[in-house]
This record gives sequence, structure tokens and C-alpha cells, in this order.
Amino acid sequence: MAFILPELEFKYDALEPFIDKETMRLHYLKHHAAYLEKLNAAIAGTELDKMKIEEIFSTVSNYTSEVRNNGGGYYNHALFWQILSPEKMAINDITLADSITKYFGNLQHLKDEFFEEGMKLFGSGWVWLIKKDNNELLITTSANQDNPLMDVAPINGRPLLTLDLWEHAYYLKYKNDRAAYINAFWNLVNWDKVAELFNNDNINF
Ligand code: MN
Repeated sequence: MAFILPELEFKYDALEPFIDKETMRLHYLKHHAAYLEKLNAAIAGTELDKMKIEEIFSTVSNYTSEVRNNGGGYYNHALFWQILSPEKMAINDITLADSITKYFGNLQHLKDEFFEEGMKLFGSGWVWLIKKDNNELLITTSANQDNPLMDVAPINGRPLLTLDLWEHAYYLKYKNDRAAYINAFWNLVNWDKVAELFNNDNINF
């Protein structure tokens, strides 16, 4: 039972001008596909072949770096595509909006913290909005292709929103200007999907 590349729900040029067509095409067809292929190769014929990706992450420290890096690469990109929208969206879910107010004061404070954490991350990785087991929302980052579902993560929680901070995600358009890329991201967030993840702990990829 191999993992499969999830279909993109938008065209490569749909996120222009914030994420350009060529970056989107390479990112999905080359980077994401390569993580998937290597993950499937790493788990083929092992006990992991029968496990869900979340189960693998919860015990990932027991497995090889191939499983950790490519499992993360497979999952993180699948989630990333899901929370992107070609149309600018507002937060329509009251429960999510209330929770953002409770833990960040307002949406702008969430964005400010997301920006600061994203800028502080040295090298390649991801910035996340997560929901902890006690329902607390917080911003965290991970190096490489790690994520907050992994037992190796400093803070565990359910990912609601994420941004790829590897240079391959933005260098063609933004060069070394990570700040402009992070700021542009808010034009693309699919808040309905974020709300769906917030309200349902059982969504799997
Ligand atoms: Mn990437």
C-alpha cells in the first residue's frame, strides 16, 4: 500500500502573482513527487507499509532518516497545497475566529508572530499554526521536513496552517526575500480548510 501524490485542486498559475506558475509546477511535480517516491521506497516491504502517515510520525524516531525526511516531505507538501486558495478568503468559522482572538488577541497578532518565527528560522524548514491537545493555538517552526506530528518535534500539535520556508518554495520569484514571500502568503490562505482542520481532528491524508 504505497502513498500517492494528491491531486492539486488548482492550476499551476492559479496562485499568481503571489506564487508563480513555474515555482508551483516544479514544487509539485519535482520536489513533492520526489519525497513521495523516496518515502514509498523506504517503507516498501517493511511494517510501515501498513501504517497511516500520522502513526509513522508518532514513532518516527524509531525509523531511518529516509522515512523521517521523505515522510515529512510527502505530508507537509500535501497539507500545504490544501491550505492554499487562488481566491482571497476571510475567516467565516466563528469557533476558529474566537480561538484566534483567545490565543493571539487578533488575526494581525497571529500574522505578526508567524512572520517573526518564519524569519527567525535558520535554513530550511516550515512555520506552523498548530492546535495542541488542550485546544491551545500556537505558532511553531520545524527544521528540514520535520513537522509537529513527529515525536521528535519540540512541541506537538495538530497542524492547521503551514508555510514552506525552503528556498525552493520562493527563490525563483522572491530570490532571498523571505519576508516578502511570507507577507504575500496571507493572500492565499484557504481559511475554510483551516477551519475544517481546526474542527475535525480526524482528517487524514
Ligand atoms: Mn517544498
